[in-house]
Amino acid sequence: MSDGIGKVGIIGAGQMGCGIAHVSALAGFQVTLYDVSQERAAAGKEKVAATLDRQLVSQKISEAEKAEALARITPAADPAAFSGLDLVIEAATEEETVKRKIYREICPHLDEATILATNTSSISITRLAAATDRPERFMGIHFMNPVPVMKLVELVRGIATGDQTFEASKAFVQKLDKTITVSEDFPAFIVNRILLPMINEAIYTLYEGVGSVESIDTAMKLGANHPMGPLQLADFIGLDTCLSIMQVLHDGLADSKYRPCPLLVKYVEAGWLGRKAGRGFYDYRGETPVPTR
Ligand code: NAD
Repeated sequence: MSDGIGKVGIIGAGQMGCGIAHVSALAGFQVTLYDVSQERAAAGKEKVAATLDRQLVSQKISEAEKAEALARITPAADPAAFSGLDLVIEAATEEETVKRKIYREICPHLDEATILATNTSSISITRLAAATDRPERFMGIHFMNPVPVMKLVELVRGIATGDQTFEASKAFVQKLDKTITVSEDFPAFIVNRILLPMINEAIYTLYEGVGSVESIDTAMKLGANHPMGPLQLADFIGLDTCLSIMQVLHDGLADSKYRPCPLLVKYVEAGWLGRKAGRGFYDYRGETPVPTR
């Protein structure tokens, strides 16, 4: 396996954790998929089975590849499962307090040489690294959603990240057949620094009554050649994640142009978090998505 990485742990069996488990297992890595409960972790493995099935139907993988990949994934909810791993990628909820708590719990169980990476969309890698016992073996490996489809991975070094950590992480990502871009450690890195203010502006456009959900998404699909509208994309990312990223940009760059739209805050307060919650700017509970405004 690339630069000694063979066994991978993934923290958080949500949208991103499952995607990372999927591509890692297909590439031949042994995967421990961890979440707050064994049920959640096992449900994550079920989700990976479903996305592997879709790839099987579209003939991207064979029956044997699917079976082998699934057999490499072990769901877990006990931090003791983190011993003996080469790389652990944290893909839990985008809240700094949650991530810090996780590092406190799992660091004592990691081997000394284990690299700890975060899939954070926006939070300072240097600050997160300082909350661990291994800043030189900590970095950002930022996958895009949906992981099996999206080609890009942003690599982000914290101030203390060692060369070996960077090189081993790079070799791992290359093994997944992804394209790497390197970003400096500034709020939201490259992709989300550009993407999220655009999404936030689309929500302001809705909030101010300039257009409806449908007209905004149609305008950007057909007028700017975007494959999906910004509100549809926001639902896809998760509105809680979108809000967290805007807050990180607003706090980290202290510029009012990053002020999260109050309507985004309201949707999150309502628990209308987008696709994963069944409702966001669209209602996904029926046959076809219906705009909620
Ligand atoms: P999600 O809400 O789908 O999943 C988060 C998972 O973390 C849940 O399964 C939750 O149970 C788990 N979790 C929470 N606290 C935990 C704990 N203490 N221990 C173990 N597991 C815990 O979120 P997501 O969309 O998968 O995002 C996860 C991370 O990936 C975030 O940092 C986010 O910014 C980043 N990210 C998201 C996207 C996106 O488009 N959604 C893209 C790139 C990166």
